[in-house]
Amino acid sequence: PTTAPPPHVIIVPSAGMGHLIPLAEFAKRLLPRFTFTFAVPTSGPPSSSQRDFLSSLPASIDTSFLPEVDLSDAPSDAQIETLMSLMVVRSLPSLRDLIASYSASGRRVAALVVDLFATDAIDVALELGIRPFIFFPSTAMTLSFFLHLEKLDETVSCEFAELSDPVQIPGCIPVHGKDLIDPVQDRKNDAYKWLLHHSKRYKLAEGVIVNSFEGLEGGPIRELLHPEPGKPRVYPVGPLIQAGSCEKGAAARPECLKWLDQQPRGSVLFVNFGSGGVLSTEQQNELAGVLAHSQQRFLWVVRPPNDGIANATYFSVDGEIDPLKLLPEGFLEQTAGRGLVLPMWAPQIDVLSHESTGGFLTHCGWNSTLESVFHGVPLITWPLYAEQKMNAVMLTEGLRVGLRPSVGKDGIIRGAEIARVIGELMEGEEGKRIRSKMQELKRAASAVLSKDGSSTRALEEVAKIWESKV
Ligand code: UDP
Repeated sequence: PTTAPPPHVIIVPSAGMGHLIPLAEFAKRLLPRFTFTFAVPTSGPPSSSQRDFLSSLPASIDTSFLPEVDLSDAPSDAQIETLMSLMVVRSLPSLRDLIASYSASGRRVAALVVDLFATDAIDVALELGIRPFIFFPSTAMTLSFFLHLEKLDETVSCEFAELSDPVQIPGCIPVHGKDLIDPVQDRKNDAYKWLLHHSKRYKLAEGVIVNSFEGLEGGPIRELLHPEPGKPRVYPVGPLIQAGSCEKGAAARPECLKWLDQQPRGSVLFVNFGSGGVLSTEQQNELAGVLAHSQQRFLWVVRPPNDGIANATYFSVDGEIDPLKLLPEGFLEQTAGRGLVLPMWAPQIDVLSHESTGGFLTHCGWNSTLESVFHGVPLITWPLYAEQKMNAVMLTEGLRVGLRPSVGKDGIIRGAEIARVIGELMEGEEGKRIRSKMQELKRAASAVLSKDGSSTRALEEVAKIWESKV
């Protein structure tokens, strides 16, 4: 007798790599009980990093790029949340066709999992009798904020940044309006309206899967798990992070890891601002000045500053800007041996899991944060965009596993301040305390992922629901 194929699950991501990576990790953990299709909305050819990443996944997680939708009527200054939301809305007919084709071929589609800004796809699931779930690739704190936004919107009439008191998100450490997630900073902008629209739709989902765990975010998670009418069920399944890719001793081991092999234990500060974070030239020069004049060992992923200089001499042979050419004069010579500079990209997981790495100066993207927690690396928090300022507040004032340098009135973090936090983290008493607190979180992170851990159990609950018929 032939056995029935496993139930199928369709995933609708709405944004870049920072969302695809944890979604893929989530799917991998549910193999072979389910098969998956990433149904990716597009408004142009998918990026090569997206394509490469999706094609590297196991065969039972396949990809269907939905036909391109036209976004040319969107205003030229439309924010990313607006564009992503429009892209999903306009892709709904092709998503419906895709799901129908599975059903027609006799495959049971058990669930539709949508990314945080793709909630419009829930309508298609409800229409076709498929269980809708949301995957939330950010913090429980941000999720709690989303679920609270409707109320805030009704009770606050000014911009959130103008509020004199911090905002109290249920279960969370108070946070100033100016530190809230970017799309709520201008309430007249369409990005805000979209966010509000999505947040009101969360209750339509049968469950919200969040990439976090109680040992990390006890306050908001306890609040989210508390059942209330109109509140979706929440499943904390984190930390879902990628595994490293470079074995020790492998022939193809990247140079930066070989360099790390030569450094003393816990001595290197890793500096990286995520997949897209860039500094202004002035800010980059302040940071470079500190790294050049201190004795600190470092591994820095450098990108061209965002007020880039259009000068042909800065372009390498492929026409790309060579970020190393934009560093202050003499920087590479001054730091040779003690510091290593990598243009554009580092094998971050391998760096964070390396024993020579003793600190991480990060933009606080949630994946980077979880990776650092999982590997027990203490933080300097340098938030740039999205929900990163909220993450920084949680990490420094709430969990106290990082130090946050103060930003000057002109928006620049000055060298003396950068030197202070680096010195304190790598050598100071506060740094020792932070390090040991981070070790506690590291142990908590592996406990929740163990056989009887809370995240394993939450994942199992989701799987059981999907296996049961609607
Ligand atoms: N990443 C990496 N090398 C880099 C920069 C980023 O491997 O040089 C990975 C990083 O490990 C993480 C993801 O890209 O998994 C970035 O996600 P995050 O949420 O931290 O930030 P985002 O890029 O979405 O702002």
